[in-house]
Amino acid sequence: MAASILIVDDDTAIRESMQEFIQMSNFDVDTAASAEEAIEILEDKEIDVVITDIMMTGMSGLELTGIIKKNYNTDVIVMTGFCADYSYEEAINKGANDFVFKPIRFEELILRLKRVLNERKLTKDRIQMLEKLKKLAITDGLTNLYNSRYFYSQLELEVDRFRRYNHPLSLLLLDIDHFKQYNDAFGHIEGDKVLVKLGKVIKSCLRRMDTGYRYGGEEFTIILPETGSEEARVVAERVKSTLMEATFSPVPGKEIQITISIGLTEYALNEEIASFVQRADRAMYMSKESGRDQITSLPATPSDQ
Ligand code: GH3
Ligand code: MG
Ligand code: MG
Repeated sequence: MAASILIVDDDTAIRESMQEFIQMSNFDVDTAASAEEAIEILEDKEIDVVITDIMMTGMSGLELTGIIKKNYNTDVIVMTGFCADYSYEEAINKGANDFVFKPIRFEELILRLKRVLNERKLTKDRIQMLEKLKKLAITDGLTNLYNSRYFYSQLELEVDRFRRYNHPLSLLLLDIDHFKQYNDAFGHIEGDKVLVKLGKVIKSCLRRMDTGYRYGGEEFTIILPETGSEEARVVAERVKSTLMEATFSPVPGKEIQITISIGLTEYALNEEIASFVQRADRAMYMSKESGRDQITSLPATPSDQ
């Protein structure tokens, strides 16, 4: 897509000749006769680079530059006469990306414009790369759920929210039953397929506010904000029954069903995060001890707080 350029100059002849020239280099060009008009255009349309005169009736080009750099993701090239009162320094301090002198030499302007656009692209790529890295740092590579590092940071946020608004907060801890046997019998790759499927099942059962995590090897957690234990049990039941609908065929002709044991608990005011997680873990082990493939809800006791 062609980069979009906005020329701002109160001199019609300059505006028109610049527009014609820049359009010849295949850019999408708009023009404005004042800074005020330029802002109206910026409100309506995404502009990559504004090329603005400094001395204009009404708002000056420097003021306009300051406003653009504060409010829009747009770069600015400032134009001025050789003997103008304004300096290169002032323009750069306002955030201008480059500076050209009048009378404009069009070849030079195009070169500067291309350089600004090039830097703009590099910055955009860098931001995208950082976002990708940030996402990688909080994602479990196998299941695409969040990882345990993110689990703890989100749990802290939710506990803070609990303290502020006093809405209930529940936690589910899920562990696959007899998973070692499955791995030993069919190999790690088949085991991984079960983990991937369970990740998908968890995702499909979450409500808008809920988040799912791969907590450890074959253990998963779900944070349920604004949810009491009764409602949390409904989500837990849904995960369990959705997983029961899936069958695994690690070897041809064999169909295996996987079950999970779930621990459920609600956060109690003033308790440590560790105690909250440990109680969910204890509830999960109670599910294991009473035969696996079930959900145990464990309320907080006064000693947890
Ligand atoms: P239980 O019903 O008591 O939970 O028994 P279990 O066999 O599931 O539990 P145990 O803790 O003894 O074994 C967990 C197994 O999970 C060990 C390991 O083979 C498997 N596991 C852990 N992480 C991974 C992984 O990333 N990929 C695969 N394929 N297996 C994993
Ligand atoms: Mg385990
Ligand atoms: Mg297990």
